[in-house]
Amino acid sequence: MNGFLFEQIIFGPVRSRRLGISLGVNLLPSNIKHCTFNCLYCECGWTKPKSKQCLTFPSREDIKKALEQKLLVMRNKNAMLDTITFAGNGEPTLHQEFSGIMDDAIALRNTHYSKARVAVLSNASLAGEKSIAGALMKADQNILKLDAGTNETFQKINNPRIKISLQKVLENLKQFKGQMIIQSLFVRGTYRGVAFDNTTDAELDAWLKHIDMLRPKLVMIYPIARATPTEDVEKVPMEDLQKIAAKVEALGIATEVYP
Ligand code: SF4
Repeated sequence: MNGFLFEQIIFGPVRSRRLGISLGVNLLPSNIKHCTFNCLYCECGWTKPKSKQCLTFPSREDIKKALEQKLLVMRNKNAMLDTITFAGNGEPTLHQEFSGIMDDAIALRNTHYSKARVAVLSNASLAGEKSIAGALMKADQNILKLDAGTNETFQKINNPRIKISLQKVLENLKQFKGQMIIQSLFVRGTYRGVAFDNTTDAELDAWLKHIDMLRPKLVMIYPIARATPTEDVEKVPMEDLQKIAAKVEALGIATEVYP
């Protein structure tokens, strides 16, 4: 599967199940997925090996220009906007100028849509770098991925393209001292004859311990919503997701469950 990829820097606005009316900003090269992970459920498709990619990132200046133009058009039409969201064709923190781009987006938001939030969806794999952690902290919604309780399941489901363990991801997350939203996608299936499932009792117990240690502001719990690169993937029913949410709420941590 080629996946759902964006051709342009700005996409939307779209009505997002998690972010309301969301204007997307794609910092990655157009029409190519680029990520430090290769999640089995990724709606952008598979991450191709670096050597097979010709990667041209949009410049900070072009991103700023494209975002400002779009915000002006929207404002002239009195269009609603809840969130400016850094997402797109992969991991946004891979852009070398991520921190400066965040500054530009916040300044533009303040000028044109002061009530809108700035959100980043990141897998936190690069947040061990101080500059990236600092840039993520600038977002109103610093939304970071944690799908697994054990390293075995992390390696299977998130399938990283860089050498990284779940322990390292947890260390990266810990430095935000709770100033983050955790996003967790629950999924089960089989890939190349190997089963994966982050909803087993053992996985959930381990994941809950991490959540309790991290104490995020909110945990977003959701299933797959679009086509996945591998076919044998099961959408976890709402009922199961609500049971997981109840366990998080019992820790005194807020949750939102999305269909
Ligand atoms: S971290 Fe996000 S963009 Fe990267 S492979 Fe996973 S789902 Fe796709």
